[in-house]
Amino acid sequence: MSEKTIFQKIIDREIPATIEHEDEQCIVIHDISPQAPTHLLLIPKKRIVRIGEATPEDTQLLGHLMAQIPLLAQKLGWSDGFRTVINNGPYGGEAVPHLHIHLLAGRQMAWPPG
Ligand code: AMP
Repeated sequence: MSEKTIFQKIIDREIPATIEHEDEQCIVIHDISPQAPTHLLLIPKKRIVRIGEATPEDTQLLGHLMAQIPLLAQKLGWSDGFRTVINNGPYGGEAVPHLHIHLLAGRQMAWPPG
């Protein structure tokens, strides 16, 4: 496996982050460059490089990640709605090769996305 990603360094407490939630399988941090009033990143502790490289072995973990979304929405009071985004590869706008789900809330989102 290549060099640690920025998210692995956050998971390993080598660099700081504002942590919204953590459990044995994932960590949820606030994005350092928020694109909405609240912008979270939901990150599995196991490094799946990107969603397009997940395997059937990851099914439980992927389900765990998805199950965090309504819990966060309820905890943070996103009753007006929110958006989830997974960027995959160059055309998808991916910058960090460690799977993460963006959760954006607190403003009206546009469609189609850019
Ligand atoms: P993506 O383009 O989907 O790979 O998203 C990577 C995200 O990570 C971007 O929204 C960045 O702002 C965010 N990011 C990069 N470094 C950090 C950091 N140290 N702490 C929190 N978020 C970060």
